[in-house]
Amino acid sequence: MWFTRRIEHCQVCGTPVEQKVPEGDNRDRAVCPGCGHVHYVNPLNVVGTLPVWEDQVLLCRRNIEPRKGFWTLPAGFMELGETTEEGAGRETDEEAGARIEMQGLYCVLNVVSAGQVHFFYRARLLDTEFAPGPETIEARLFREDEIPWDELAFRTVRMTLQRYFEERQTGQFGVYCADIR
Ligand code: ZN
Repeated sequence: MWFTRRIEHCQVCGTPVEQKVPEGDNRDRAVCPGCGHVHYVNPLNVVGTLPVWEDQVLLCRRNIEPRKGFWTLPAGFMELGETTEEGAGRETDEEAGARIEMQGLYCVLNVVSAGQVHFFYRARLLDTEFAPGPETIEARLFREDEIPWDELAFRTVRMTLQRYFEERQTGQFGVYCADIR
C-alpha cells in the first residue's frame, strides 16, 4: 500500500469530521458537522511502464518510502491534465531518465485494499543511457534470471513482470486485468 487516505478534519472549515451516511447516499463519508461539507474519497490511478531492451527489463531501486531500497517498475500517481499513457511516460522519465517508445496498455490491476488502480504500459527502450531522478537510487536492466523477486517493492510489479516473462515465450501480449483484495 503506497499510502492510505483518511479525512480527519473538514477541508473547508477545519472542524473534525464525522463518519456517516449522508442523506440520499449509501455509504459512510467524512461529513463536516460544522459546515455540512461531504468529502468523497475515490481510488487513485497509479501509472507506469515496463521498459524493455532486448531480453532485459528496466527496474528502479526506490530512494523514497514506502519500500525504500526495493526495486520497482517506473510508476507513480497520475496527475491532473494528463492521460494514463502520458503519466506513465512522465514517471519513466522522472524516475529512470529513460527514453522509450510506448507499445500499448499491458496491465490494469485493481488494488482494492489500497484504493488504487495500477496501469502499466509496455515500452521499448530507445537506448540504455539512464539518468535516475531523486526518487531513484539506481536504474538498471535485468534479464529474467537476474530479477530480484524477493526485493520487489509492490505486488503489482511482481504480477506485471511474471505475466510479461510468461507471455514473452509466445511473443503474444494481451491486456492483463486482475484484482487484489
Ligand atoms: Zn466544514
